Amino acid sequence: MKRVGIIGAGQLGQMLGFAGQRLDIECVFLDPSPDPPAAVVGTVLKLPFDSEPGLRQLASESDVVTYEFENVALGAIESIAADTAVYPPPDALRFAQDRLREKQLFESLQIPVAPYCAIDSEEELRNAARNIGLPLVLKTRRLGYDGKGQAVVRNEVDLPIALKALGGSELIAEQWVAFDREVSAIGVRNVSGEVAAYPLIENQHRDGILKISKAPAATNGLTALAKRHLEQMLSRLDYVGVLTIEFFVVGDELLANEFAPRVHNSGHWTIEGARTSQFENHLRAILDLPLGDVSPLGHAAMLNLIGSMPPKNLTLGSDTAFLHDYGKKARPGRKLGHITVVASNPADRDRELARLNEILVAQANLTDIADCIDLPR
Ligand code: AMP
Repeated sequence: MKRVGIIGAGQLGQMLGFAGQRLDIECVFLDPSPDPPAAVVGTVLKLPFDSEPGLRQLASESDVVTYEFENVALGAIESIAADTAVYPPPDALRFAQDRLREKQLFESLQIPVAPYCAIDSEEELRNAARNIGLPLVLKTRRLGYDGKGQAVVRNEVDLPIALKALGGSELIAEQWVAFDREVSAIGVRNVSGEVAAYPLIENQHRDGILKISKAPAATNGLTALAKRHLEQMLSRLDYVGVLTIEFFVVGDELLANEFAPRVHNSGHWTIEGARTSQFENHLRAILDLPLGDVSPLGHAAMLNLIGSMPPKNLTLGSDTAFLHDYGKKARPGRKLGHITVVASNPADRDRELARLNEILVAQANLTDIADCIDLPR
């Protein structure tokens, strides 16, 4: 039986673990949290993510080591990469951890991005406001996620306020993109170089957090372009595993926003909505197994359950709606679970979403997503 070591035992680790069980792969995790979601699918070494003994033990018990979040300390990864296969490669992490280097990487591959510049002082921010224009988004270069570490600057008065709010960190300023839609592209490459790409996914965010994903996206005409961009990244980084790129769609252009060197929230629909899930394909890729078929099984949507969960006895009243409960303690803004629906066409999928929305709003006190559903009214 193959063993995979995973740094992080959150919900992504949990879903990797479930995929591993179906493939007869054992997953072992490194995570200091008291009761992490992945504890239900494997042993958790309860030590800090960067603990040397923890990493050494994880590596010694595993054929390959991977990670489920991109803020793993690079030094920690590099300390085990000399003796153990670590995928995705540490170089991918290096780019993903720094928004400036990430943008430079996209540009070096001729993947378009919104105008941006590094900011080290208020004067540079004032210059950026002149050159890039307002509004702009000021972001910390490191450790931002789910819209955290960001401030929108709409006018001159906002400039020092935004700087103060994000103070002390290295920053970049980005042009505010009046996008038509947001999409993500999820690709996978195994050790032997086999590559596959899921259909393009359309994403809607609330307060910087992903709320709903639909796949295949209505903008499927852009799939070939997104796939080209994915292939450029996979090959440039000599990548192994699942890689996600998030894009803004502006007209028929794709502007890359960021990439994640890991399985991604916008790919959860693949568990029931594709022939092979992103989780199974990530494990296949890092163990150099042939990749599974990435074809969709219909039109899927994934709804994140944020801050509160439906009551345990709630029935969704359908055999094409699938509730996932990560087993986490409820906290405002926390991703606690998700629901995926799979239908044979986009209209049926959105009708099903509207039905679920009514149940969730009435019985679970969850945010109304009616405005995310394109229903013929
Ligand atoms: P990020 O952490 O960069 O993925 O940003 C979280 C969300 O904020 C994105 O998914 C967008 O909805 C929004 N956002 C980030 N950067 C920009 C931008 N330059 N222009 C417009 N919206 C943005």
